Amino acid sequence: MSKALSNALIHFFYPAYCLHCEDKLLSPKDLLCADCLQQIEWINPQERCVHCFAPAPCRLCKTSPRPLRPHRSVFEGVGPVRSLYDDFLRTKRADPLASLLLLAWTRASFPCPDAIVPATLKIFPQQDPAYLLAKAVSRLLRCPLLLPRASLQDKSLLLITPILQNLDETLDIKNALRGAFPRSLYSLALIDLRT
Ligand SMILES: [Zn+2]
Ligand SMILES: [Zn+2]
Repeated sequence: MSKALSNALIHFFYPAYCLHCEDKLLSPKDLLCADCLQQIEWINPQERCVHCFAPAPCRLCKTSPRPLRPHRSVFEGVGPVRSLYDDFLRTKRADPLASLLLLAWTRASFPCPDAIVPATLKIFPQQDPAYLLAKAVSRLLRCPLLLPRASLQDKSLLLITPILQNLDETLDIKNALRGAFPRSLYSLALIDLRT
């Protein structure tokens, strides 16, 4: 096999360039270079609305609070995390983002769930980003994955949303899940696009 072809194959299986800045990577198994890893900014919960977790000050909850809590949104949709997310949509490789969600879950001191639930009401959600991400979280946490239509009574649930763009959609899913009488219902959004 020619060297050019074998290089092309290696780069196909292992991205040799940073997904964000496209600099060459020291280890071909990394996805981001050290600089881009450092640039990842986590949302500070103290800068968020206590009711809906939108950026504070939140004008909407002044008149009618819309309780999303207990909830954490982890990143804004910019920078290296956005590049990781675009790569996830292309390749369906969810483990890097699932690891970041688990780190956020630890930092938030949320309880250990009985089940992970993807934020999708589709009947066949297997290709849905919410399903793929929740499945990776459930595998890493060794915790069952259940769909919103499963029997959820008395269980402690962790709802996984890849992108929170519209609060009402997430609230609708949370309210539907509350109708199944879980013991507790926590939610994590990887990317929060609200400004
Ligand atoms: Zn980079
Ligand atoms: Zn609010």
